[in-house]
Amino acid sequence: MGGQAKAEGLDRQAVSPEAVIASVLSRQKAAYLTDINPDLALRRDRLDLLERLILAWQERLAAAISEDFGNRSAVVTTLADIVPTRAAIRHARRHLKGWMRPRRVGLAWTGQPGSALILRQPLGVVGIIAPWNYPLNLMLSPLVGALAAGNRAMLKPSELTPAFSEALDAAVREFFTEDEVAVVTGGPDVAAAFSAAPFDHLVFTGSTAVGRRVAAAAAQNLTPVTLELGGKSPAIIDASADLNRAVPRLIWGKLLNSGQTCVAPDYVLVPRDRVEAFVAAAKAAAQQQYPSLAGNGDYTSIISSRHFERLRGLIDEARAEGAAVIELLPGTDAGRRILAPVLVTGAKEGTALMREEIFGPILPVIPYDTLDEALAYVNSRDRPLALYWFGTDKAAERRVLNGTISGGVTINDTILHLAQDSLPFGGVGASGSGQYHGEAGFVALSKEKPVLRQPRLSAVALLYPPYGRVASMLLKVLARFG
Ligand code: NAD
Repeated sequence: MGGQAKAEGLDRQAVSPEAVIASVLSRQKAAYLTDINPDLALRRDRLDLLERLILAWQERLAAAISEDFGNRSAVVTTLADIVPTRAAIRHARRHLKGWMRPRRVGLAWTGQPGSALILRQPLGVVGIIAPWNYPLNLMLSPLVGALAAGNRAMLKPSELTPAFSEALDAAVREFFTEDEVAVVTGGPDVAAAFSAAPFDHLVFTGSTAVGRRVAAAAAQNLTPVTLELGGKSPAIIDASADLNRAVPRLIWGKLLNSGQTCVAPDYVLVPRDRVEAFVAAAKAAAQQQYPSLAGNGDYTSIISSRHFERLRGLIDEARAEGAAVIELLPGTDAGRRILAPVLVTGAKEGTALMREEIFGPILPVIPYDTLDEALAYVNSRDRPLALYWFGTDKAAERRVLNGTISGGVTINDTILHLAQDSLPFGGVGASGSGQYHGEAGFVALSKEKPVLRQPRLSAVALLYPPYGRVASMLLKVLARFG
C-alpha cells in the first residue's frame, strides 16, 4: 500500500510544503467524498491497521524516540506512548458500534407526533499537530478518535523528534494509503502552513503560546480546533496526607520523562509545618526511584540544549532572587542533557520559575497555612491542565474538587486520570479547549447531526394561517404551559 501511496503522491522534495499539504489535503477530501460515512467494518479495519502498524514498528519507533531525546528508556516509551495508544485502539474498537448508533431524543410540541435522532457523522479530514514529549501517543491517540469517527487524517509531528517523524512517516506509508492517513514533516514553518490549511477539524497538542497562533490560523478557515495545551499544574498535600504514601507518587509523576510531561505536577503546596518532612520524603523517594543518575537509562535526558539551558536558567534566576535549591539527587551532566532533580523553596512570585510552565525536573515547594489560602493561590492563576490532591479528609477533598477548576484531577496519585479511556481528557482556559480520549474523542471528531422526521400529521399545521378558533385556543394553552 505504501509504494502505491508514494507513486500517487507528489515528489515531496520538489515542491513547497504548502503545495504538499494542499495536494494531500485535496486528495483526502476527494476520497472522503467517495465514502462520506464509512461503515463499522471499515472503521474497525482502519483501527486494526493502526494496531498492526504499532506492533510492527514499536521497536523502531521507540529507538527513534530514544535517539531524539539522547536517552529515553524503552520502558518509558512503552508505558507512556505505546501501551496507552494500543489501549485507546482496543477501547474504541470495543465501543465503536455503540458510539456510532444514532441517539433518539424527545420532542417539543412543535415536533409532535414526529421522531428525532442525532446522527454522528464523520467531519472529513482532520489535521493533528503533536509535540515532542510523548510523540507517539500524542500523535496516534487523536488519530484513534479520528479513524473511529470515520475521518481521514494528516499528521504533523514535532521538528524536535526528527528520527521519530521519519520512522512514523515510513510506518504510515506501509499501512495506509496517502488519502487515508498521511504524515507531513518539517519545521515550525511547515507546522504554521499546516495549521493554516482548511481542515475540517484541527487537533493541536503543544504549548499555550503556539496554541494561540494555531487557533488564529484555523479561525481564518473557520476550522474548529481542539487545543490540548499546558501550564502549571498544582499538587496540594493536605494536612491529612500520609507523606510516606503521597510523596513517592508525586515524585514519580514529576520525574517521569524528567518532568517533560504535560500533566506533570508543576509545583506543590505543602502545609507550612510539614515542609521539612516533605523535603526529607522527596529525597528518599527520588533516591529510591533513581538510585544514581550516572549512566541511569531510566532517567530521561532533556530534549534539547535550548530546553536544558532554559531549565538551568529557571534555577539560576530563582536562586539569585533568594530561593533555596535543594538537590534531590546529584548527577547533572550537561553533555548528556541530564538535569538532576531539585526542589526549590522560597522562590519569588515574579520569577520565571513561578510564572512559566516548568516542563522539567524542578519542583517549587510553596508552604500554606490554610486550605482557603492554597485554593486562592491556585485560583489566582491560569486554569491548570491537571490538579492533584493528596489526603484522607473527605471534607477537604470536596472543598478542593468544588472550589477549583482544572482540565482533570487525580486524587492521591498523579498523571493516571490521563490513562483512562473512560474519562474525557482536555484542558480549560489557558490549558486548552475541547477534549478527547474514548467517546469524547469520537464525539469531538464527529458532527452530531440532529434530524427531525415529521409524519403525515403535524401539530404545527394547526397553526397555519388563516388564524382562527383553533389557533387562539392553542395560543391560550401555550401561554399557560409554554
Ligand atoms: P510547541 O507548542 O512548541 O510545539 C508543538 C507543535 O507545534 C510542534 O509540532 C511544532 O512543530 C508545532 N508548531 C510550532 N510552531 C507552530 C506554528 N506557528 N503553528 C503551528 N504549529 C506550530 O510545544 P512542545 O514544546 O512541542 O511541547 C511542550 C508543550 O506541549 C508544553 O506546554 C506541554 O504542556 C504541552 N503539552 C500538552 C499536552 C496535552 O495533552 N494537553 C500534551 C503534551 C504536551
